[in-house]
Amino acid sequence: MSVTLKTGDCIKCSACNMVCPVVSIDGISGFSGPRNLAVDLPRFFAGRMISSQEIFKCTTCWKCEEVCPSSLPLSDSILRLREMMFDEKTLVEGHKRIVENIDRYGRSIKPQLRERRVYAKREAEVLYFPGCISEMRVTSIFDATVELLEKAGVNFGIPDNWVCCGAPLEKIGDSNRLESLKETNLIKFGSFEEIITSCPGCTTQFLRHYDRDPLHTIEVLWEATKKNRLKFKTPKNNVRVALHHPCHIKRTIGPQIIDQAYDLLQLIPRVKIVELEDPDKCCGGGGGVVAGFSDLALKLAASKMRDACRSGVDLLLAPCPFCVLNLRRANIGKVEEFITFINMYTEREA
Ligand code: SF4
Ligand code: SF4
Repeated sequence: MSVTLKTGDCIKCSACNMVCPVVSIDGISGFSGPRNLAVDLPRFFAGRMISSQEIFKCTTCWKCEEVCPSSLPLSDSILRLREMMFDEKTLVEGHKRIVENIDRYGRSIKPQLRERRVYAKREAEVLYFPGCISEMRVTSIFDATVELLEKAGVNFGIPDNWVCCGAPLEKIGDSNRLESLKETNLIKFGSFEEIITSCPGCTTQFLRHYDRDPLHTIEVLWEATKKNRLKFKTPKNNVRVALHHPCHIKRTIGPQIIDQAYDLLQLIPRVKIVELEDPDKCCGGGGGVVAGFSDLALKLAASKMRDACRSGVDLLLAPCPFCVLNLRRANIGKVEEFITFINMYTEREA
């Protein structure tokens, strides 16, 4: 990854610091913010930067870039700095575990709950890439996606022995291992033109590093409804839900997917949608922060869940496995993964 930051273009407005979720939780003394880390440190204090762990607290939410009047690539600059600083010996414990798991299992997490699934179909037309969390940790996402794709008539297959997309390695700056995972996956992907993903982190990774153009499951289901391939069921009672807008959908793979998620929800009778005051506020699930700075990630998740509870919803829906995992850690209110929720209220069109 090569990023050129024109630091002279920074007008020192601090708009980036004001929207940074980590600054809002940890204060400027705990995390000196995107302006300092991405602009001032590389410019004036390169030596200090090399020894700072603080740069790994950024959740890569892309919010700072969204508001920067000079359109500076702040998140990419932070990722580039992490790459320059990468040293296996100085990684924090949680990040060391990511590297160990990748080396041992080809996954960012230790396999739990059940064995890896093989779902290869020789005649399949599209490839479903579940990602580490959906297949091994929040496995209801995997099951719901398989069911929904079948209901929608998608002829899909899952290759055996796929490996982590490399997103967690990008977040800790390990570009060498990332390259090796990419090579393995590209062989597994073979001639499949179309790839469907559950995790916006995987989707972003394929877009940015694999030169592929994957679809998030929401896009596939939205298309299926346009062709009347899904039939929606009515819940027994009214359900009040709010939608969390994951950073890696809203600000990387495309805000139109959020609109499509709302369209899908509106097709389920008795579902009442409540808009959160700050629906795209980062939940702390990204950037390697859950693994590296678990307490910080937990505070961000708790803040998001308190917002959801204040809005009076029965459920917060999150279309991202990492967000679901982190939000549930807060143990406040109820969180469901978006696709899993949609699956509960759909059936195959007769
Ligand atoms: S990407 Fe998000 S967490 Fe990272 S510095 Fe920017 S606003 Fe803060
Ligand atoms: S928002 Fe952009 S221009 Fe303003 S301080 Fe931050 S980096 Fe500089």
